[in-house]
Amino acid sequence: MLTVIVPCYNEAENLVALTQRLLKTLDSLPTESQIFFVNDGSTDQSLAIIKELAAQNNRIKYIALSRNFGQQVAFSAGINNSASSHATVLIDADLQDPPELIAELYQKWQEGYHVAYAQRTQRQGENGLKKITAYYFNRFLGKITNVPIPLDTGDYKIIDKKVADVLRLMPEQQKYLRGQVAWAGFRQTPVFYERNQRLAGSTHYTYRKMLRLAFDGITGFSNLPLKMATILGFWVSLASFFGIIYALYARFVSKNYVPGWTSLIIAVFFMGGVQLICLGIIGEYLGRLSENVRNRPLYVIAETNLTIE
Ligand code: UDP
Ligand code: MG
Repeated sequence: MLTVIVPCYNEAENLVALTQRLLKTLDSLPTESQIFFVNDGSTDQSLAIIKELAAQNNRIKYIALSRNFGQQVAFSAGINNSASSHATVLIDADLQDPPELIAELYQKWQEGYHVAYAQRTQRQGENGLKKITAYYFNRFLGKITNVPIPLDTGDYKIIDKKVADVLRLMPEQQKYLRGQVAWAGFRQTPVFYERNQRLAGSTHYTYRKMLRLAFDGITGFSNLPLKMATILGFWVSLASFFGIIYALYARFVSKNYVPGWTSLIIAVFFMGGVQLICLGIIGEYLGRLSENVRNRPLYVIAETNLTIE
């Protein structure tokens, strides 16, 4: 069984075209397959349309989350509820990822790869800032982590049951799936493609959500920022130490001192800034730690046409 997981947040205008193209591709593959929509608390007609599609075709499954939990959680909900699949495709609903590529992804899976991830050679119709930030963030994260997270990839990929099993075992609340999939290991390979424009609507990834995902990626896969706080603290202490020596020397030996407002205020600002940065970094990790300690369910299912196992 091949399952295609599609997270949907207000994608009403894209769902019918997406389903047609998905089914066409899936029907050309030598395997049983199903489409699995995860409605992520859409406020438009998405859920109604999904239900209608599901009523017409019993290969279409869905779960509806009780509110908007975010794309990564929606994918996770899909993965958690498709344990019987031998292979799973993760794809966006907006047709930026061409469904036809699934044939190639599936072929890689048949060749024995456990992960075939779609790697962008081009991105169309996304604004410059988004492309630039994504470009540099990917490379920055690559530098500060030991996990080989591939560059220029999103979530569009096929994963083998073995990898899905690993994902289901990963309990963290902050999902950064492309990192988790890379972490899982096994045989992974890229498949190159051009990312298109959205068919309809505009991105639901606000800068706020992007920033959150970026921080989840960093804190989930690197401790460098935490170490940075220590390193920074060390160098600042060293500098301060020489500053103190100099101050004492000026005061008692050379007696060449001005009652120094300037140096004082600089030192205060500087130390204050460094301390705040370090506190902030610790706070980022601590916040995520406490979220995990709370141990809440990752999402809540409101309704579904699955027979829940
Ligand atoms: N999405 C979601 N929940 C959200 C935001 C997005 O399920 O809170 C889905 C959305 O419906 C789409 C996919 O995640 O299928 C990618 O979102 P989008 O196209 O807005 O992001 P972008 O491609 O601009 O990064
Ligand atoms: Mg998109």
